[in-house]
Amino acid sequence: MNDNKMNAPVLVPCPDYAPETVRPALSAAIEAAGGLDWVKPGMRVGVKLNLCIAKKPEAAATTHPVLASELTRMLKERGAEVVLGDSPGGPFVAALMHRCYEATGMKLCEEAGGELNGDFGYTEVDFPDGKSVRRFAYVDWLKNCDAVVSFCKLKSHGMMGMTAAVKNLYGVIPGTHKSEYHYRHEDPMNFADMLVDLNEYVRPRLCLCDAVEIMEGNGPTMGTPRHLGVLLAGTDPYRLDRLGAALLGLREKEIPYLEAAKRRGLLSESDPALTALAAPYALHDFVRSGATGSWFAQSEEDRGMRKLLKRSLYVMFRSRPAPDRDCIGCGKCAADCPAKAITIVKGRARIDRSACIRCFCCQEFCPTGAMKVQRSFIAKLTGR
Ligand code: SF4
Ligand code: SF4
Repeated sequence: MNDNKMNAPVLVPCPDYAPETVRPALSAAIEAAGGLDWVKPGMRVGVKLNLCIAKKPEAAATTHPVLASELTRMLKERGAEVVLGDSPGGPFVAALMHRCYEATGMKLCEEAGGELNGDFGYTEVDFPDGKSVRRFAYVDWLKNCDAVVSFCKLKSHGMMGMTAAVKNLYGVIPGTHKSEYHYRHEDPMNFADMLVDLNEYVRPRLCLCDAVEIMEGNGPTMGTPRHLGVLLAGTDPYRLDRLGAALLGLREKEIPYLEAAKRRGLLSESDPALTALAAPYALHDFVRSGATGSWFAQSEEDRGMRKLLKRSLYVMFRSRPAPDRDCIGCGKCAADCPAKAITIVKGRARIDRSACIRCFCCQEFCPTGAMKVQRSFIAKLTGR
């Protein structure tokens, strides 16, 4: 069991992104989470940001560049080489990533002495201890680092309820490969186990979370920014996300990967100290991403029910993606859909419900925010 005072996450107020606010807040958070004494001169440190979409920092979809650049400075002061990046959905290629660095303001990290990743290769790695994945494609830029720091963003998420430190490591899988992993891990609990596997394999040296401006609603890319004004830091991604869930007022049963971590003995059943830590900042009206797509399969009872029901009946219970009138028929969702369940008909996206695996990639990458997560009629009726 990982739970002890040594790896308890910390929360530090950070009311805005002004450099003069960020520097002391980030220093205090890192110091309280164990400091940076592990960083040695010449060490190559990979900073895994959340750069899931090429949007401006104000959209609250990506790790804020002032935070990333201040972290870069702190690591450089210790003599480390610092490389920063991510691998969002879609092709993992220079042109798209440079557009993303530009839009998200990450050029600031170069001014701080960091290197924005320009290596788009990957290697198949073995993880015999994995529960859900024992072999996976791992981006070379992180694989070749001496240590990984995960710097995530706290946001709503269609499939997993929320995204923070644990989900951030899905970005160690190169862009277009993600579709295949979604397809292979259709069951949300199975997908959650895969995320836990990735975290157990990578074992980031430090996890940081930008919760100054979070995202609610149609997250993780098209939701609404909301002020929370805190930074989180810790060495245990599961406990850090537990703190994040408490801040958002989410039940842990709504977050499959926390349930998966509990089942695997990586997270205790409860953590009253973290609930108390979150309480002064906790939201009571956080807007979920439609409804979590995963609500139905996350508990043992629900998984048991799934076995009893035919798939056709089961899918009636689960939340699902649906395009609204803002759909412009661009076809991005169809291109990203791992199940090939979307076609464009008369200038609008049409979803084959029987083929859809509820991964919500279409919702995540729709450029207009037209693809929403909808609760099914039966889910509304049963209060699920
Ligand atoms: S990505 Fe969005 S706007 Fe484009 S076709 Fe799909 S739902 Fe419509
Ligand atoms: S339609 Fe959307 S949610 Fe369904 S499988 Fe395709 S990308 Fe995933």
